[in-house]
Amino acid sequence: MITKVIPEEKVVAAYKAIQRAKRIVIVAHKRPDGDAIGSCLGLYHFLYSFERETFVILPDAIPANMSILPSSNEILNYELETEKCNSILAETDLIFCLDFNNLGRIGDLGNVIAQSSAEKIMIDHHLDYQPFADIAISHPEIASTSELVFRLICRMGYFSDMSLQTAECICAGMLTDTGGLAYNSNSPEIYTIFAELLRKGVDKDALYRHLFNTYKENRMRLMGYVLSQKLEILPEYQTAIFSLSEKELAQYNYEKGDTEGFVNLPLSIQGIRFSIFAREEKDTVKLSLRSVGDFPANQFANQYFDGGGHLNASGAESKLSLSDTIKKIKEVLPAFCEEIDKQN
Ligand code: 5GP
Ligand code: MN
Repeated sequence: MITKVIPEEKVVAAYKAIQRAKRIVIVAHKRPDGDAIGSCLGLYHFLYSFERETFVILPDAIPANMSILPSSNEILNYELETEKCNSILAETDLIFCLDFNNLGRIGDLGNVIAQSSAEKIMIDHHLDYQPFADIAISHPEIASTSELVFRLICRMGYFSDMSLQTAECICAGMLTDTGGLAYNSNSPEIYTIFAELLRKGVDKDALYRHLFNTYKENRMRLMGYVLSQKLEILPEYQTAIFSLSEKELAQYNYEKGDTEGFVNLPLSIQGIRFSIFAREEKDTVKLSLRSVGDFPANQFANQYFDGGGHLNASGAESKLSLSDTIKKIKEVLPAFCEEIDKQN
């Protein structure tokens, strides 16, 4: 038995909005991860039953390992196909916004959506919703947006009609945001949902292999380099910091997605509770932060770099240079740790 998480009136309102719409667009956040892509494609396949014209538009490219998901080749890339996407959006009556809760998280696409008169339904699990949607299904207590999409489909009464494709995409999203059920997955209902997805015929083991174990040799060598040459451990703050410049990335023929998961690695060192990875990218520095227990990675990201995310997994973009970003992190870390330790 799965409890009712999404309020009934929102389920009904979302159902009516789908029925009213002629054209539906589904969008998710920048640098989309498995949950963003899995939830979009899961919903996309589900909407087939309604026979509406449906599109998935993402702000930029998807990582190579996500091409395993059914219809991933149909996803439109806003960065590369801006005009086409804008003309689709201009004639859209319903926009689903998945896995983000702030229009600032989707780059230029955010302005287009803000100005669109289409009805907007947000489905998300991040903290601090910045209101923009007509229907906001916001549940930070749920581990993934894909799980929320599963719950919404069931509550609309379509579980028995759920296709294998929908189930596969949802499974991929749930696996991604829990690190393959390694963290943020203590809720018993996650396993009830997994059991239902397996009954739909999902090959979870194969999906896991594709998502987590199909990287290129270069990525493993880059991982070896960053761990042996770049990792800094600050034992007094139980923190690990490491970074990669564009030049270093180029030496390993970096492609989007190659550093996925690196930030988690230092958390396997005994005593480390906070890991920060900084990656230089054009004119910005992308920060990934992970923590264990109640150390608030999202608070650090928000307080010093205007970022956000979850307690144990957060991100931000720094406008400082890579070296100044690292310098700032080291400067602010002592006071931040002191403050957190005082509270706990
Ligand atoms: P990742 O490190 O995998 O890019 O992101 C981890 C988490 O932080 C995700 O939940 C993601 O949505 C959030 N996040 C990543 N980058 C940003 C950012 O620039 N701003 C905010 N507010 N959240 C971010
Ligand atoms: Mn997510």
